[in-house]
Amino acid sequence: MRNTLTTLEERGIRLTRQRKILLDIIDQSGAHLDAERLYQLAKERDSKLNRVTVYRTLKLLKESGLIDELDLMHYAGDQHFYETRMKQEHAHVICLKCGRVEEYFGEQLRSLRQQIQETLGFEIVAARTEVGGYCSHCQALRDSSTSPVATANTNVRPHAHAE
Ligand SMILES: [Zn+2]
Ligand SMILES: [Zn+2]
Repeated sequence: MRNTLTTLEERGIRLTRQRKILLDIIDQSGAHLDAERLYQLAKERDSKLNRVTVYRTLKLLKESGLIDELDLMHYAGDQHFYETRMKQEHAHVICLKCGRVEEYFGEQLRSLRQQIQETLGFEIVAARTEVGGYCSHCQALRDSSTSPVATANTNVRPHAHAE
């Protein structure tokens, strides 16, 4: 698989220190971090980095096609999340109650894209699949709160999703 550095060179993008730091964090985390969290992590590596630089760098990396900007069904309002473009195509499955984000990888996503291209004669450059709903934990919590009998002998605690 091509790495981010090769892509950068091909596109003639200079790899400044702050760009490298942010790309590293995003590539390595494998998660979907928001700009504020990325700023905090970047600051740990270089205390001189400021918020404006980080936000500007994220915009540039996005425009260069190196990272994806996601809104994840707007579960966190206007907040955006960033992830590497180096991952295999996947769908984002978002719990609208607790904000848990699962990634669904499957050959079907690729064949769907192929079908769209063939059927419409469309050349797809980007595809994004988002699914919103309730995760199994939140369903269990909801079910136990609506039936008081079941609550007595179940010990379901709200789960936190640490990133
Ligand atoms: Zn949930
Ligand atoms: Zn993802």
